[in-house]
Amino acid sequence: MSISKSDLHSSLKKYFGFGKFKGLQEDVVESILSGNNTFVIMPTGGGKSLCYQLPALMQEGTAIVVSPLIALMKNQVDAIRGISNEEGVAHVLNSSLNKTEIKRVKEDIQNGITKLLYVAPESLTKEENVEFLRSVKVSFMAIDEAHCISEWGHDFRPEYRNLKHIIGRIGDNIPIIGLTATATPKVQEDIIKNLGIAGAKTFKASFNRPNLYYEVRPKSKTVDADIIRFIKQNQGKSGIVYCLSRKRVEELAQVLQVNGIKAVPYHAGLDAKSRSLYQDQFLMEDVDVVVATIAFGMGIDKPDVRFVIHHDIPKSIESYYQETGRAGRDGGEGHCLAFYAYKDIEKLEKFMSGKPVAEQEIGQALLQEVVAFAETSISRRKFILHYFGEEFDNETGEGGNMDDNVRHPKKKHEAKDDVKLLLETIESTNEKYKSKDLVHVITGKENALINSHKTNEQAFFGKGKEKDKKYWMALLRQVLVAGLLKKDIETYGVIKLMDAGKDFIKKPESFMMTEDHIFDGEQADGTII
Ligand code: ADP
Repeated sequence: MSISKSDLHSSLKKYFGFGKFKGLQEDVVESILSGNNTFVIMPTGGGKSLCYQLPALMQEGTAIVVSPLIALMKNQVDAIRGISNEEGVAHVLNSSLNKTEIKRVKEDIQNGITKLLYVAPESLTKEENVEFLRSVKVSFMAIDEAHCISEWGHDFRPEYRNLKHIIGRIGDNIPIIGLTATATPKVQEDIIKNLGIAGAKTFKASFNRPNLYYEVRPKSKTVDADIIRFIKQNQGKSGIVYCLSRKRVEELAQVLQVNGIKAVPYHAGLDAKSRSLYQDQFLMEDVDVVVATIAFGMGIDKPDVRFVIHHDIPKSIESYYQETGRAGRDGGEGHCLAFYAYKDIEKLEKFMSGKPVAEQEIGQALLQEVVAFAETSISRRKFILHYFGEEFDNETGEGGNMDDNVRHPKKKHEAKDDVKLLLETIESTNEKYKSKDLVHVITGKENALINSHKTNEQAFFGKGKEKDKKYWMALLRQVLVAGLLKKDIETYGVIKLMDAGKDFIKKPESFMMTEDHIFDGEQADGTII
C-alpha cells in the first residue's frame, strides 16, 4: 500500500490527535503499510501501540493483536473505541465472552468494521477461532510483548512458542509484526527465529533514558528508615516503591503511613475494588507513594513519577529497567534508587530451586547480571545499555553523568598487566570456563571441574593469587563491558575472547580499573558508598 507522508500525518491527526510521530513510529508505520514483516524494539513508553494501531485503522481487513495481558488489552480497546465513533472498531476475543458477544465480534469482523482484534495466545490456539480467522481478511498479525517467546526474556510464556504455526494456519503471507521492550541480543534472536521473520525490517530505538538518575545503596536493617528519609526529602513528589512480596508491601505501606507519608499498597492479592481505588488515588495525586509488587505499573501511564525505589533488587536487568522506566516519563526528573544486599540474591535463587534445570541456569545467569550491576563501579547507564547491546560513551552521551558511580567515582588504577593475565588465562584454557571457574583458575583454587581438565597442573594456574577473587571478578566484569570479552549465552555464560581481546594480548594498552563496591550489608547506613 503506498501512502504519502501527508496522508500519514493527517491520519495520525485524525485518529490520535497527535501533531507528529514519536521517534521511529513513522518509519515503522510505513513498513507495516508496505506489508513487510517488521520488528520493533522500543523501550516502554516509546509509543509502540500506535505503530500497529495506526496502520490497522488505515487498512482494509482486521489486524490481529496478540498480547499476554488481558487487562492491557481491555485498556487498549477502550482507548481505540474512544478515538473512533465506532464501537466495533476494536474487540477482544477471549474466553470471558458469552455467545451473543462472540457472535457480535464475528459479525463486526466479517462486515469489515473491526480493525483491531486483540487476542490472548491461548484463545488463538482454539480450533474454532483459527477456523473463523481463516475465513476473514487479516491485514497483519502484531505480536505484542514478543519477548514472551524467549526463555531468555523475563516473562517467558510457552503458548507464544506456537504462534508461528498458528499464523501459518490462519493464512499464507500474513505480515508479522513483533514488538518488544526487551532488547538483549539473545532475546531478539529468539524472537526472529521463533516468529520466522528473518529479514524483517527492524527498528530499534535507543534504550537510553537520559533524565533518569541511577543509584544503588547498600541495604541494611535500617532500609525502611532510609526509604522514609528519601521520601521526606522528596516531599510531595510521586513515587513507586517496589517490594518482592505482598507481605512486605503491606508492612512497608503501613510504616510509611505511620510516618506521615501518603502511601497505599498495591499487589495482585488485593481485591479489584481496592486496586482500582489506590491506582486512581495515585493518578489523581491524592496519595504520593504506591508501595507495590511488580503487579503495579503495567499500563500505568503517570508521566510525572519522580522516583522509583527498589526495596528489593529485581530478578533481572530487564525487570529493573522496566520498573525504573516508569519514572520521569515526561522527560523530567526521575530518581531510581535500589537497595541491594547479596542476601536478597540468595533469596531469589531459592525461589528458583525446584524449577527445571535449564530455567534455573537462565535464572542464575540473569541474576549474576543483577549482581554485577549492583556491585559495579562503572557508570550504571553504560552497564545497562551495554546489556541491551548498545554502546554508550559517558563523555559524549546524553545523561552521561546521571548515576552515582559517575558522580562519586571510586579511585582508578592501572590494570594493564592484570587484564593481560586474565585474557591469556582465557586463551590458554581454550575459552571453556564461566566467570567463577575462571577466577578460581587465576587465584589457584581447585575444584572438580578444573581438576578434571588438569588445569590445576598448568604453569599459569594460580598466577594471580596475590589478588583476591573479588578483585578478579570485578576486573572480569569491566573487561566484559569494555568489549574485550563476551559471555556466550548458548552455554549459559562461558567467557569468550572478542577480537579486541585477542589484539590486547598481542599489544597491551592502558586499562584503568575501578574497584567494585563491597556490599556485605553490615557497614550499611544508607549513605552512598
Ligand atoms: P509503549 O507501548 O511503547 O510502552 P505506548 O504505546 O503506551 O508505549 O505509548 C506511550 C505514551 O506515548 C502514550 O501515552 C501515548 O499516548 C503516547 N504517544 C504515542 N505516540 C505519540 C505521538 N506520536 N505523539 C504524542 N504522544 C504519543
